[in-house]
Amino acid sequence: MTCEECHRSYMDIICEFREKDDRALQFFTDHGILPTTRDCPDCQRPCTYRAERKIFQCNTKIVDKRHKRVKRCGYSSSLYKGTWFENAKIKPNTALLFINVFLEQYFSQEICENELGLSAKSVVQWKTFCSEVCMYWMENQEPIGGPNTVVEIDKTTFGKRKVYHGVQVRCGLSVFGGIERGSGRMFIVPVEEIDSDTLAPLCQTFISGHHRLQ
Ligand SMILES: [Zn+2]
Ligand SMILES: [Zn+2]
Repeated sequence: MTCEECHRSYMDIICEFREKDDRALQFFTDHGILPTTRDCPDCQRPCTYRAERKIFQCNTKIVDKRHKRVKRCGYSSSLYKGTWFENAKIKPNTALLFINVFLEQYFSQEICENELGLSAKSVVQWKTFCSEVCMYWMENQEPIGGPNTVVEIDKTTFGKRKVYHGVQVRCGLSVFGGIERGSGRMFIVPVEEIDSDTLAPLCQTFISGHHRLQ
């Protein structure tokens, strides 16, 4: 599996970002997870980023009338404020490598503890965290299809714990999904049963218009 935006594969990520926090930060910025700018909440003007301290700082000059002098606004906030990393206790490159493993079928508690040096508690926390992101993504999927498109649908049942497009599924759970031919737009939903009573309403919800399905 490769990233849709930068086309890096599982191995590319490991080779490129192992022990490289600054590059990992750049990766998160490029993927819209960390901000490139921030406005000062007091002055409503863009802050300056100070890479060495990983903070945004407001340098706007303000006239202090009482003391008859000009001073700097002085507002500053962490690069991580309001992002995924706000309360993260792990380093950016470790987070990136964790997400990389999370999205693969070989995800396991042991790999994360042994290879990434994370505590059992951190692995559980980050797994929950990434699962929540996947759930949010799953619950906010847009319908695919429409005029002049062909949607292919398929279903699959997983045995033991498996990961399918980042969605961790329970033992013996089935997944139903569709993909729009050409564009690659898709949807995925976990299902209890694979029968027409279950699948027909899902087609109604996730596929615009009505086309022949295969
Ligand atoms: Zn990417
Ligand atoms: Zn300011």
